Amino acid sequence: MNYEKFFAEQISDLQDEGNYRVFADLERKAGNFPQASNYRDSGVEEVTVWCSNDYLGMGQNEEVMAAMHEALDKCGAGAGGTRNISGTNHYHVLLEEELANLHKTEAALIFTSGYVANFTALSTLGSKMPGMLVISDELNHNSMIEGIRLGRSDKTVFKHNDLEDLERILKEQPLDRPKMIAFESVYSMDGDIAPIKEICDLADKYNAMTYIDEVHAVGLYGEHGAGVAEREGLMDRLTVIQGTMAKGFGVVGGYIAGTKAMCDFIRSFGQGFIFSTSIPPAVAAGCRASIQYVAKHNEIRVKHQANAKMLREKLDAAGIPHIENPSHIVPVMVGDPVLCKQASDMLMEQFNHYVQPINYPTVPKGTERLRFTPSPFHTEEMMDELVSCLSKVWETLSLQKAAAQ
Ligand SMILES: *Cc1c(COP(=O)(O)O)cnc(C)c1O
Repeated sequence: MNYEKFFAEQISDLQDEGNYRVFADLERKAGNFPQASNYRDSGVEEVTVWCSNDYLGMGQNEEVMAAMHEALDKCGAGAGGTRNISGTNHYHVLLEEELANLHKTEAALIFTSGYVANFTALSTLGSKMPGMLVISDELNHNSMIEGIRLGRSDKTVFKHNDLEDLERILKEQPLDRPKMIAFESVYSMDGDIAPIKEICDLADKYNAMTYIDEVHAVGLYGEHGAGVAEREGLMDRLTVIQGTMAKGFGVVGGYIAGTKAMCDFIRSFGQGFIFSTSIPPAVAAGCRASIQYVAKHNEIRVKHQANAKMLREKLDAAGIPHIENPSHIVPVMVGDPVLCKQASDMLMEQFNHYVQPINYPTVPKGTERLRFTPSPFHTEEMMDELVSCLSKVWETLSLQKAAAQ
């Protein structure tokens, strides 16, 4: 085999489909969120970032940065080992306590990322529980799908957020068979929210565990930012709550929260936990400061939701089509990978607004979109500017408009 030729051909296929990914080369500016410098062939330009998952700008929060500086100076750069072999720093212990406190659970366990948390927890539950059946929402994130796959237990997929389909599957199973319903709260691409209470009711009725990914909700929903389950008073009904510290909390790292025995089980058997160096102490300190800050400042969640609403209204007024949903995510539909990339390129190159085109495999082909995530720091002026530029792009590329409202 000509290896080089093979790689090049695969890439050229992607390019022909319009699905080849080009990363924006950014330098974020602490204290100036959501602005960043964008390095291009033609030079460096200042851009407004509209697609960050640092939903609340916590990555530049002064208390978070101060906590990281302090821990960095105190403990140095790295953790120095896996959790078992010298890599459990006191900041990790404090962070796990903070997370358990946030979710009102007995315990929590941190991982190097939300991806690793899902991958490890789900594969461990699937492989170490005899007879396990994992029942997985069809739109679950790749980290869940791959964790379930690695667990090699029986698995079945239910239609997205469809309680009838879920019950049909549960009903067929013996009551005493170990089962786990795996789902998300906020689905990040369409911005819809799962019927958590009803799923928990079914789990109780059919004796199943529940595993919820609250990655796009922690920091953002609930009185203290513990997620949609907190907002709806359901945290005590979930077996495993999984989250990230990379999005609403603005740093990096993943976790699960639940009972002491469940967390201890994953700690003891989860290979992605056991065999990987723990996160730097300064990162753990930053995560903890962020969780504490966000818990105390409900007003940033209020502003966050208000800004998402404002952007939707401005898009409606301009006839730019977007998916209605009950969350902070504003998906503007294009429906074609090439046009979607062109729209994104025009916004960036001509107008200095950055929104990444979202294409396959992140979303199904034909549903390519621009996914906007306005933060509490995006001003009305920025939104007006953006929508006026979007209108020009829609005109130039003859993209489909919605009826103006
Ligand atoms: C981003 C994401 C993850 C992974 O979290 P990271 O901390 O970024 O690794 C897990 N689940 C969902 C739904 C996500 O969108």
